[in-house]
Amino acid sequence: MHPDVVLVRNGELGVKSEQVRRKMEDRLAENLRAMFAARGLTGDIERRRNRLFVHTDEPDAVADAAADTFGVVSASPAETVEPTLEAISSALVDATEAHYDGGSFAVDADRAGPASAHPFTSPEIESECGAAVWDAVESMGAEPAVDLDDPDFRLCVECRPDEAYVYLERRAGPGGLPLGTQRPVVALVSGGIDSPVAAWKLMARGCPVVPVYVDLGDYGGPDHRARARATVETLAGYAPGEPMSLHVVDAGAVVADLEAAMADLRMLSLRRFMLATAEAVAEAEAAVGVVTGEAIGQKSSQTSANIAVTDVATTLPIHRPLLTMDKADITNLARDIGTFEDATVDTGCNRVAPELPETNADLDAVRAAEPDDLFERARTCATAREVVPIER
Ligand code: ATP
Ligand code: MG
Repeated sequence: MHPDVVLVRNGELGVKSEQVRRKMEDRLAENLRAMFAARGLTGDIERRRNRLFVHTDEPDAVADAAADTFGVVSASPAETVEPTLEAISSALVDATEAHYDGGSFAVDADRAGPASAHPFTSPEIESECGAAVWDAVESMGAEPAVDLDDPDFRLCVECRPDEAYVYLERRAGPGGLPLGTQRPVVALVSGGIDSPVAAWKLMARGCPVVPVYVDLGDYGGPDHRARARATVETLAGYAPGEPMSLHVVDAGAVVADLEAAMADLRMLSLRRFMLATAEAVAEAEAAVGVVTGEAIGQKSSQTSANIAVTDVATTLPIHRPLLTMDKADITNLARDIGTFEDATVDTGCNRVAPELPETNADLDAVRAAEPDDLFERARTCATAREVVPIER
């Protein structure tokens, strides 16, 4: 097979109104170009309804790059052939000779355009070309078998009036919407397993993120900061068109004060402080929400009762895309995204947490126990933040 094009499918964009879809497709094309450039790849993007075609000499790497781009549902390296049964059959036979490795096979064909565009139907492509593949398998010395539902070897054909495309695989993309089609949100990123996954999930819905790391002083330290930075670098790899910086808020003095002044409620005040710093950074960076990696009940500060107490620390919406997920599933996602390896040290929070933290806190009790100037200090610390550009 000689793939010369990558078919890029963009799923959810197809159900938008014409105007919105056009804008989102513009952005998707722009993001794909940025992704190719970041990986040193070249490709000409041709736009068609619900699809992008990338004409390229490097279909394999281009398909991988597309499959890492938000808004892309799947990508297939494909070979362009004449839209005739002879040409399609011949390409399928070539593909079989090069890639068939035993077991059952199936030919899946789709035809686009008016019925008059081709003197054949999709079922006719499947049966005629399937027969040619059958013969090819037989002449390779194997026992041919067709399994339309779950074949070991699937050959796909997309036949359009002017051209047909033949491909063997669909590489799954993240889906969602193109990055940059929503307003940005601040991502509270600790470098643990959860928060980078949560940030990635918002990116996958089109939101650029402004990552904020709260440095907990003696409870955090250089290893935590380096780890947070490493996860943000990995996230930045999914956003080649977006400049990204890590905003580091120094909270060492605040943590020490909370620890001295408060007992079993201090984690909640620390969370409230973090959310208040996030709000201040959001204001400065024109972001419209905050994303955290919280999941109900995962930790004492994340019981449904305690989330009610921390949630009111900001008037911005707090997005919690992992809210109902189990840790094992979040961990699998972190592995897929590539942030798991960066996140193997314990977070500082684990050390700030008291022996017996409150799991059913009362807002008035937390307010009464925490320093009066907690939110003011959050704003001051946020203003003094260090902005570290992320290289890629
Ligand atoms: P992760 O930080 O990835 O969730 P974790 O589960 O160990 O790992 P938690 O203590 O559960 O961390 O923190 C809950 C959420 O609070 C995090 O998902 C993150 O959004 C935010 N957060 C915690 N610590 C920090 C920090 N030092 N800086 C910025 N955000 C933080
Ligand atoms: Mg967590």
